[in-house]
Amino acid sequence: MCLPDITPARRDERDELLASLTRRSALGGLGGLALAGLALPLGAAAAHAAPAKPRTPSAPAPLSPPPGTFAPEGPAGLDIEVIPSAYQSMNPADPDDYASYSLAERGPADIDAIIIHDTETDYDLAIEIFTNPAYYASIHYVIREDGRVTQMVRNQDIAWHAGNWTFNQSSIGIELIGVAEEPEHYTDAQYESAGRLVAYLCERYEVPLDRDHILGHENLPGASPASHGKMHWDPGAYYDWEKLFAAADAPAAPLRSGRSGKAETVRIAPAYESNVRDFLSCDPGEGRLPARPTSVLMVRTAPRDDAPLLTDPALAAAKPAITGQDYICDWGNQVSWGQTFAVADRVDGWCGIWISGRIGWVKETDPSGASAIEVPPPSVKTVRPKKNRAVKVYGASFPGEQAFRAAGLEPVVLAPLPYSLTDEQAYVLQDVSQGAYYWSPRFDGTHGQWVRDDTSWARIQLNQRSAFVKTSDLRGV
Ligand SMILES: [Zn+2]
Repeated sequence: MCLPDITPARRDERDELLASLTRRSALGGLGGLALAGLALPLGAAAAHAAPAKPRTPSAPAPLSPPPGTFAPEGPAGLDIEVIPSAYQSMNPADPDDYASYSLAERGPADIDAIIIHDTETDYDLAIEIFTNPAYYASIHYVIREDGRVTQMVRNQDIAWHAGNWTFNQSSIGIELIGVAEEPEHYTDAQYESAGRLVAYLCERYEVPLDRDHILGHENLPGASPASHGKMHWDPGAYYDWEKLFAAADAPAAPLRSGRSGKAETVRIAPAYESNVRDFLSCDPGEGRLPARPTSVLMVRTAPRDDAPLLTDPALAAAKPAITGQDYICDWGNQVSWGQTFAVADRVDGWCGIWISGRIGWVKETDPSGASAIEVPPPSVKTVRPKKNRAVKVYGASFPGEQAFRAAGLEPVVLAPLPYSLTDEQAYVLQDVSQGAYYWSPRFDGTHGQWVRDDTSWARIQLNQRSAFVKTSDLRGV
């Protein structure tokens, strides 16, 4: 099967880009692949963070060797073919150099998110990439346009897909065969299979079936400030999240009546078919895309249609040419269906939300005049920074240096992202977790080990992406 819109020339170009990826670029202690200068979301080549190297080896914790093949994991009746991802040494002289995933024994306590991607390639090329260890990339599932599912990594193991080690170690990844700027590849059959698979995974791993835990690659922060502005934006503004949740048979959450003592909140809820927008393409030379249904609302700096769009500081630093306009890949000025934000202010037809450390304005109606926001259920919690301190925001939730040293490992030190939260602001709390880092440097699988401490991390809805704040810096948690 070959997607009609992926021409041989484009395939060659992507092959070349993929082939030219530098292995293990230097992103501080986080390592990972770099897609330097690449504006397109190459979900298939998602960066992964290289594990920290040991100072002295810890006690081995032998894991089962990787299987030649394995039984598919999915709901009854869903057709799943197993094509295992590559798992092999890449350098006999270096036991730390292997690909393309990490052996682990994860269960419900370790997994708290499902990450949706699109491949930007056809099925054959996607499978070629995920079975070729030279790409250092892997994924648990691939779903084709006709709804057929391929599983490539066991859910207990850690696939390298998120470009952020916190999310790799705590998630299951699903690649949709598709192209972010060409929504026709997101077919009914594909939504149906994805919804059934997501529902199964949520039940099996006790992951809440909501937008705080079912995330797009575009909703993940970079683990370091350098990687944050370069994070991928798949599956993109044309992905119909409401349709995915309907296919997963997600129960409709009860809406809140009246106001509670916490910050007032608003949920982004445009009706996909009437929320029609035209964006600038992020494919060089493509110009403006046709007006199409989308899942996103635009965020402006003032409550007026002609006010400038919000500019994200990390994106502006990494890709200045595409910020502040309506490029489809500008995640800094878009919020997506199902996301919830604290309300800062309201002005006639506009809602001011706390986003990225400031107030951003979202129009309460879509371009057709239909309502595009709703009141979220009472279960939504908000948090506020403690008084009189500028609270730091991070892209990962690792343990402190002490925990790494106690395990005999070089600490992985986090640097804050370029946002500052002050005590008047409020953000929706998506999840709370303890500091954790899965260390898995060895090809033979004998050194899989969780490094943990009791650092308590809040994951908040910072903007289109999530971010982490220490709960000791917050009120309300
Ligand atoms: Zn992706």
